[in-house]
Amino acid sequence: MSILQFLSESLAAGVHRIGQIEIQALDSNFSLFHAEDQELANQPGHGGLEIHRDADAARDLSTYAEDGEYRFTKGQTNLRRGWLLILPSLEELRRALDLFYPAALGLLAAEKAGTLEIENLRDKLNRQTGMYRFARNISDAGAQQLIREVCGPAHQCAKRILWQLDARTPLEDSDASRYDGVPGDLDRSETFPLLCREACNHFVAECRKVSKAEAGQAKG
Ligand code: SF4
Repeated sequence: MSILQFLSESLAAGVHRIGQIEIQALDSNFSLFHAEDQELANQPGHGGLEIHRDADAARDLSTYAEDGEYRFTKGQTNLRRGWLLILPSLEELRRALDLFYPAALGLLAAEKAGTLEIENLRDKLNRQTGMYRFARNISDAGAQQLIREVCGPAHQCAKRILWQLDARTPLEDSDASRYDGVPGDLDRSETFPLLCREACNHFVAECRKVSKAEAGQAKG
């Protein structure tokens, strides 16, 4: 099934939310806006929201948070508010969603088809080169603790973790490991969850820091 077909079928089945974005369909047009701006978006004149009509606008809208902070992964729950993106076709909607949440729809379509490939943390760390090579030395306990400190909505990440430490080592139970990838309390059948199929660069960088600290402690 193509991503476009997956998107079309999901919308027809009542899905209207991904991450912090609400999707509204009207004939063949689509509107996207921050879910917390729903009331404004539905007012006459769209409540003063800044109107965009090009899917490429999603790139700028999703790069920095409201306070100007760079968003280390697009799965962060600090998407800025105050905009409305109006798109003329399903293809443009797919393009915009791919800029807001890169690869999210592709991962979901692959998961549905049973072809989603997951990379466990050890495999990811063992692939690192240069200054990040050292990240692979992190202990299992250090990695489990880091998941609690970096992942999950308490740390502004809205993704559901699919990976383990390695094939034999699942994640320990925590708010972060239990999180289902859907911010807010919307019915799960109305949302696209966000999936984390491999640790992000931010997490790898944090592994390197912990690994160095562990090495320092071992030396005494
Ligand atoms: S590794 Fe953790 S912080 Fe990074 S994207 Fe995945 S869930 Fe989010």
